[in-house]
Amino acid sequence: MGHGALPGHNVRHAAAGGSRAKGRHVPQDWQEHPSWEQGPELALTDCERLVVVSAHPDDESLGVGGLVTTADRAGIPVYVVLLTAGESSHPPHETCSRHALATRRLAELDAAVDLLAPGSPVVFLGAPDGGVADVEDEVVAALSEIVGDGQGTLLVAPWRHDGHPYHDAAGRAAARVTAGCAARLAEYPLLMWRTLDPVEAPWDRMSVVRLDEDALQTKLAAIRAHSSQIRTGGEGQWLAPFHVPVEHLVVDRVAVPRPRLELRVAQAS
Ligand SMILES: [Zn+2]
Repeated sequence: MGHGALPGHNVRHAAAGGSRAKGRHVPQDWQEHPSWEQGPELALTDCERLVVVSAHPDDESLGVGGLVTTADRAGIPVYVVLLTAGESSHPPHETCSRHALATRRLAELDAAVDLLAPGSPVVFLGAPDGGVADVEDEVVAALSEIVGDGQGTLLVAPWRHDGHPYHDAAGRAAARVTAGCAARLAEYPLLMWRTLDPVEAPWDRMSVVRLDEDALQTKLAAIRAHSSQIRTGGEGQWLAPFHVPVEHLVVDRVAVPRPRLELRVAQAS
């Protein structure tokens, strides 16, 4: 995600998150919440395709690495759609230009995806790191093309209320796409684990993915593949929320209307 252990991102996120970024919550606060693992399991039974939206390289591994490897093992095709190369995660300096960092982070994403769901396509939309909200319409158009009619498709994206502007824009774009097709939407929190008080989380809409030991270890390896984002000092605490054997996704449980079915029923009666 490129905005935790990294000083530049802390500053930017504090500005973007406003008063919300006041608290610092440790994983224990979350795991002790009575709703921690109470949500229904995110069903993959009707899923014929998993499309994963990542705002930055590493969002996918942190937020849904376990879901991705679980889906892959179940034979479900996985597509990863990356919005930015995350080239602004470090301030540029002489030894590492933005271009070099972008190149490195794209390679890290490829390595992570090869661990989670080997051979799965990665589509890079090439939005500038810093301007996803400005190109949201283009992201919607590109995503719509990938998702198509959405039949049998589970689209997962960063939670649109996560509190980071690019995560939020990615989530909004995904929600706009699923509003116009048959795809299911599930949104994964990233910054929420640090910035929100556990009592403020949308527990009533949270589904869970329980990870077996294999899935958890594969997820952790994928997180480590994003080595440019791992710094000494502080990142242990930052990464801790992602080292648990469960993933949480926000799902709007609104009944999907079936107009054609209703029409047939009406004609028959
Ligand atoms: Zn991110």
